[in-house]
Amino acid sequence: MRDIAGLKAALDGITLSDDRALLRQKSRDFYWYSPILKARMDGLSAELWAQPRNEAEVLRALAAARVRGVPVTVRGGATGNYGQCVPLDGGLVLDTTAMTAPLALTDGVLVAEAGARMIDLDLWARERGWELRLWPSTKRSATIGGFVAGGGAGVGGIAHGTMRERGNLLGLRVATMQDPPAILDIEGDEAAPVNRTYGTTGVITQVRMPVAPAQAWRDVALAFPEYGAAVRFAHALSYADGIAKKMCAAFQPVLVPYFKGIADAVPKGTALVLAMVTTAGMVALRDMAREHGGALVAEQDTVAAERDPHATPFYEYCWNHTTLQVLKQDRGVTYLQCRFPFDGTVEAVEAATALFPDEVWMHTECVRFGGRITMSALPVIRWRDAARLAEIMAAFEALGIGIANPHVFTIEEGSGYRRVPGDQLGFKRMADPLGLLNPGKMRDFTRADP
Ligand SMILES: Cc1cc2nc3c(=O)[nH]c(=O)nc-3n(C[C@H](O)[C@H](O)[C@H](O)COP(=O)(O)OP(=O)(O)OC[C@H]3O[C@@H](n4cnc5c(N)ncnc54)[C@H](O)[C@@H]3O)c2cc1C
Repeated sequence: MRDIAGLKAALDGITLSDDRALLRQKSRDFYWYSPILKARMDGLSAELWAQPRNEAEVLRALAAARVRGVPVTVRGGATGNYGQCVPLDGGLVLDTTAMTAPLALTDGVLVAEAGARMIDLDLWARERGWELRLWPSTKRSATIGGFVAGGGAGVGGIAHGTMRERGNLLGLRVATMQDPPAILDIEGDEAAPVNRTYGTTGVITQVRMPVAPAQAWRDVALAFPEYGAAVRFAHALSYADGIAKKMCAAFQPVLVPYFKGIADAVPKGTALVLAMVTTAGMVALRDMAREHGGALVAEQDTVAAERDPHATPFYEYCWNHTTLQVLKQDRGVTYLQCRFPFDGTVEAVEAATALFPDEVWMHTECVRFGGRITMSALPVIRWRDAARLAEIMAAFEALGIGIANPHVFTIEEGSGYRRVPGDQLGFKRMADPLGLLNPGKMRDFTRADP
């Protein structure tokens, strides 16, 4: 029996709750996208919720949990998709969302507390002439710490790759579960074992990352007579070095009616490309679209849209927001995460799209990996059962398409091509020898002295 009452008493002065309804709410993320994870995770709940305001309170919470053998699961914006911040074994949920301060921006290096929302950091940086290089389509609710620990791809990927690339994460301050818990200030390759390890290797308290000079971004929507033309255009746009861009995605016509804010602007039955390009790139973009048989059908100022709670920046139709837009109207779908081969990318997209026309609705995002351009896909999938999902994954893999399986919750099984190189297991053994941080999410970890 865990001493939660003792833990609560020891954390006096820190914002806490053991209200059961609140605990259930604070123990969830977007795991329900996956019917497989939904069956496994529905009903799981922490036993105590704490919201530290600073590093000192984080360390106090970790020390008090460690001495009582209570597991700790970190939670940021809770927009993760694989039950990453769902506690598998109860314990304490440590909520970072009161640690939100941007701390410094000097010579293109941003330092911020881990619980800062990415939208707020981007706007703060913009006031100083800079912008985030990368953000997830959940920018308006995700935290910077959650993006590092659980996400890592998204808008900006066509220019800067993913968070896996050296240089996209400069350094971290991270609280360990050692005896006693301590703060490590690590940078470069040293910080890699905390990158995309779901809070199993430490609690990030501060993030240091590079930012880019701010640009005037336009959201653009372009219609194409069929999906193949949209994919070819999107792929060509990624190589068009004269047109600065932050995002470029192609959607099959079947998905367009689910995009409430722009569906009416897109001619019925046409395929869609959504992109973010600079104002300076608009003339070249129109010329290029004409050459590919497409036409601009809608545009808006990206920053104005994301500041307006009633508007939808176009990136909220992209990445894993595509699935969400469909799920809002049809709960019978799920999704996959794929990466197409570098050579023959367009052909592989067309081949995969042709495989399951009634069950898989394709949507591809242009992205760089290790300096090479390809497409990621988050296809929407009509859910039948786990066996059928496995067949679809196997068929994709047979075409040379990599899968980062979003229907499993361990780092090792799920991350696929998104896994960050580095000695994650060795770091965990040092930073969390008792295995109290988000237990169950790093499959290969076992306690040395149980
Ligand atoms: C509609 C939708 C669209 C999405 N689009 C994208 C996308 O474009 N790109 C992308 O990469 N992801 C995407 N995601 C997944 C998710 O939104 C992102 O990964 C996001 O960055 C997670 O941030 P968060 O603050 O919500 O993290 P959370 O969900 O709170 O946490 C994610 C993981 O990180 C850990 N964690 C959180 N904070 C810390 C910390 N301070 N220290 C240590 N560990 C921590 C948690 O324990 C958990 O394991 C999407 C999800 C949804 C639902």
